Amino acid sequence: MRFNKISKTSFDTIHKYLLFFQEIVYTGHIAIYGKEGCIMKDNDCIFCKIAAGEIPSATLYEDDDFRVILDLGPASKGHALIIPKEHYRNLYDIDDETAAKAIILAKKMVNKMKDVLGCDGYNIVQNNEETAGQTVFHFHMHMIPRYKGDNVGLGWHVGELTDEVKNEILEKMK
Ligand code: AMP
Ligand code: ZN
Repeated sequence: MRFNKISKTSFDTIHKYLLFFQEIVYTGHIAIYGKEGCIMKDNDCIFCKIAAGEIPSATLYEDDDFRVILDLGPASKGHALIIPKEHYRNLYDIDDETAAKAIILAKKMVNKMKDVLGCDGYNIVQNNEETAGQTVFHFHMHMIPRYKGDNVGLGWHVGELTDEVKNEILEKMK
């Protein structure tokens, strides 16, 4: 919405603007909206600041779309994060092109880093929402090098796929 002449603007509209600006002032939250309404930068988000270079990080790689940094709490030596420069909460809302570029970049990074680190394998991990372990709500992909005998705990107990559950899910997915 836009102010034309204030004399032509209804009291309700002015009131709405005032509430909106008041919210910005109180929360200090300023977001810049980009293509398709995605938030390009969220001033409350630490990964937006790291990706923009406003907070220093151990940067392994940078281009127009991404910054790749070493994780501050590494699961193993060389644990790194791919962080898009635009703000997306997680995989649910990342734009398709950025998601595709992220996995292509992961491929490039692990191919180089496996030689640099001399690791024996790699896990690519990407958490979505708190229940799944997401703690920073700006999309990122973990690249976790694996070394024989390390005790990186990324396993799960193997369950059983019952016919009931299988059929229920297949039916609902139709
Ligand atoms: P997730 O739990 O998937 O949201 O992962 C967040 C990751 O970000 C964790 O592995 C943290 O160790 C890492 N992390 C949080 N803050 C920073 C920071 N300032 N610099 C580097 N890594 C960070
Ligand atoms: Zn962000």
